[in-house]
Amino acid sequence: MDCIFCKIIRGEIPSSKILENERFLAFKDIHPAAEKHILLIPKKHIASLNELSAGDAGLYGEMLLLAAQIARQEQIDQSGYRVVFNCGRDAGMEVSHLHLRILGGQKLGRMC
Ligand code: 5GP
Ligand code: ZN
Repeated sequence: MDCIFCKIIRGEIPSSKILENERFLAFKDIHPAAEKHILLIPKKHIASLNELSAGDAGLYGEMLLLAAQIARQEQIDQSGYRVVFNCGRDAGMEVSHLHLRILGGQKLGRMC
């Protein structure tokens, strides 16, 4: 699969890993938009939220649980953080592999 995040999962592109288990990988974003900017991805290639089906409910539930675990691990759970899924062109999605952004470590501006 010619996908940057699949290559990171396979170890063909190096990354700064934060957490890994059988189904997910979390690593630091190469261009951080905040003091802490972590990407959490499923190891299964899913292009975007548009590809998710009801059968994947467990997968995205698990992503939110892991996001909270990562926030604790990164010690931003008390100061606060934001989790964001981009989907498609208008949201500025560039990599077509589902990813949850975890942002924190500083005051984040307001977003709609
Ligand atoms: P998107 O814009 O698709 O919502 O988010 C993709 C994110 O992946 C961007 O924030 C971008 O900086 C990050 N990114 C793209 N290529 C790489 C890479 O090779 N390594 C890492 N660690 N992050 C990447
Ligand atoms: Zn992929």
